[in-house]
Amino acid sequence: PAIELDGVVKEYIAHGEVVQAVKGVSLEIGEGEFFSMLGPSGCGKTTTMRMIAGFEDPSRGTVRLHGQDVTDVPPNKRDVNMVFQSYALFPHMNVWENVAFGLRRKRVPDQEIKRRVGEMLEIVDLTGRERRRPREMSGGQQQRVALARALVNEPRALLLDEPLGALDLKLRQAMQIELKRIQREVGITFVYVTHDQNEALTMSDRIAVMNDGLVEQLAGPREIYERPATKFVAGFIGTSNLLSGTVDQVGDGTATLRYGEGGRVIVPVDGGASAGGDVEVTVRPEKIRISADEPPGDVSAVRGTVAEVVYLGTYNSYSVDLAGGTEFTVFEQNARDSSITAERGDSVWLWWQPQHSY
Ligand code: ADP
Ligand code: MG
Repeated sequence: PAIELDGVVKEYIAHGEVVQAVKGVSLEIGEGEFFSMLGPSGCGKTTTMRMIAGFEDPSRGTVRLHGQDVTDVPPNKRDVNMVFQSYALFPHMNVWENVAFGLRRKRVPDQEIKRRVGEMLEIVDLTGRERRRPREMSGGQQQRVALARALVNEPRALLLDEPLGALDLKLRQAMQIELKRIQREVGITFVYVTHDQNEALTMSDRIAVMNDGLVEQLAGPREIYERPATKFVAGFIGTSNLLSGTVDQVGDGTATLRYGEGGRVIVPVDGGASAGGDVEVTVRPEKIRISADEPPGDVSAVRGTVAEVVYLGTYNSYSVDLAGGTEFTVFEQNARDSSITAERGDSVWLWWQPQHSY
């Protein structure tokens, strides 16, 4: 692996009390991987990143880069570079000088500087803007200069802490695609910190979802979304519907619960469940179908009343009060004829395939 964290803890003393910013993180990041750390503000992402870069010393645990224990190695001796949200460009230098700065300081020969800076500006698509100063450029362009400046040093890993946070949504989405392309092109390990789930899902090979100083789940985007390991992950990534009930019947790999009037929910179980036990079931809004007629017998189905219908362009969002007392959200892709399946006040069935709940 390119980066290994082994039982890493970071404690601060604040107002005479010990605060654990990172409570014990162990993970491995593969060479050439686009790896994201995703979680709400204050969950310990930046602190973890700064320990990888060497700006913070762990209170306990080990940091290894490319197999070598670097826990006590200073930042400038580690083969990683960091890009910040604020870009931190030199305002009095033009694009070329900003990117060449590190190489000049290392006394790299002029010819080589010329070649490497030229190559890098091409990769970030800034060829022809060499003489611009940072203030003459858009936020997205400045971010690309910061990226080129970090990459021109040819680090084995690049650490990016919410690098797109200052950009507006359109530009941020364009830069997400761009960053992924650049990472593929240069082929080095990217460690990306964000609180934005869409950003992490768009770009990452794997994501560590963090909460309160710990990693709750580490997996690929699809698995994180389709199979959240904890209630926190299910709630943080996308929208989830949660329903709880008592198991009525246990079958072959499934448990069935009765829910409200005429409702039944079938959930896949791996042992564990027994009749009379309490279970919680999570279903994503886009997995649910809405209909006036009773659905087939082999799916999960519950009854409810439509409380709200919101037209959102590419899809419709329904809020449905279930007979069992819970409120469910259902997303329905807008068909070509843009018809709405149910109106406010309608009595409806919500149904989904058992394998789409967990
Ligand atoms: P994130 O980047 O996920 O928003 P941080 O790693 O910045 O989270 O912070 C995690 C927790 O550690 C927060 O509760 C924060 O207040 C605390 N913290 C971070 N740095 C310090 C510090 N230098 N002194 C005291 N507490 C800190
Ligand atoms: Mg942070």
